Amino acid sequence: LEKIVISDLKLGILGGGQLGKMLALAASSWDVKTYILDEGEDMPAAKVCYEFRQGNFKDYETAYDFGKNLDLLTVEIESVNIEALEALEQQGLRVYPSSAVLKIIQDKGLQNEFLASNGFPKSKFSLYESKDAVLRALNAGEIKLPFVQKLRRFGYDGRGVKVIREKKDLEHLFEEPSLVEECVNISKEISVMAARNERGEVVVYPPVEMVFNPKANLLEYLFCPAALEPSLSNEAENLAKRIIEKLGLVGVLAVELFLDHDNRLWVNELAPRPHNSGHHTIESCITSQYEQHLRGIFNFPLGSTKLKMPSVMVNLLGEAGYQGPVRYEGLTECMAIEGVKIHIYGKKETRPFRKMGHVTILDHDLARAKAKAQNVLKKLKVVA
Ligand code: ADP
Repeated sequence: LEKIVISDLKLGILGGGQLGKMLALAASSWDVKTYILDEGEDMPAAKVCYEFRQGNFKDYETAYDFGKNLDLLTVEIESVNIEALEALEQQGLRVYPSSAVLKIIQDKGLQNEFLASNGFPKSKFSLYESKDAVLRALNAGEIKLPFVQKLRRFGYDGRGVKVIREKKDLEHLFEEPSLVEECVNISKEISVMAARNERGEVVVYPPVEMVFNPKANLLEYLFCPAALEPSLSNEAENLAKRIIEKLGLVGVLAVELFLDHDNRLWVNELAPRPHNSGHHTIESCITSQYEQHLRGIFNFPLGSTKLKMPSVMVNLLGEAGYQGPVRYEGLTECMAIEGVKIHIYGKKETRPFRKMGHVTILDHDLARAKAKAQNVLKKLKVVA
């Protein structure tokens, strides 16, 4: 790849959401031409990439046809057509992460089996074909309440996950193929971003702590760095490093972890691409997750993951009760606060809890960053 004039390099990205947008922006700093495939018309990445093609990346023909004249292909979402990627790889196209890695990760059943069979800490789970099969296992005493049910494929942002606490929740079980996992007694949710290039170099970012809003089941605050004892922080970084090596993944990998009340770490799930829990790296770390992903897939030396300044990240979600063409309130006031960095994705329509942007708040003192973040959440409103 070094031989290719970087300005002539055609980089394809499957998916044109906000992650694709930020990836395309990072690629443009090296004058790499980005080609993006996604179905929607109003996609965040469409306005910043070199060429946008409208089409479904889950469809074999569309994905194959899109990829065949590119130099390199990557993803910003894992639910893409694997067979098309396999065919492209067979013709010599570099696809990172590879179809083999995506195949494991896009199916939470295979992903859990990969983790458990390689000795990574994963709570006990089993796979089921249907709701009836889950109910039969429950009646037979093979599983016990409470448990977590996860769709094997195509879940997103908590929509593919149900915590089943008591009998009356059973009516809400998913019908589709799923896995049932024992509940972890969660004290903190942690995420560690790792990156690897083709020649096997690996780096990890400082662990971050994610605080979820229980109502929307969406991230409310992200703290960087996570408040963890150094030994746990090291353990989390080590886990991420070992997982990316075992997968042989090229690019970035988000490793979501649970810390339980006995100070044990468990792997929740993996994302083989830039991730919401890495947005803060744009301002908070020496190398952003997007630049790092490009370094990985271009087989450049990986960049430093050192923290420049602690930060808090909040998502800008569509305000409840508003739907339609979006308006932002409170931008001026928030921009007046020191260290506030606002990112607007460019989705034309808002709906309740839709991810419309994010804000990273930098401060040498994390407690002060959190106070500023609360202020931002109060003032900055996404309405219609
Ligand atoms: P998504 O793919 O939507 O991000 P996750 O697998 O991260 O789904 O699960 C969403 C949430 O469900 C987690 O943030 C966590 O709060 C809860 N959860 C998932 N698995 C477990 C588990 N084994 N024990 C307890 N809670 C869990």
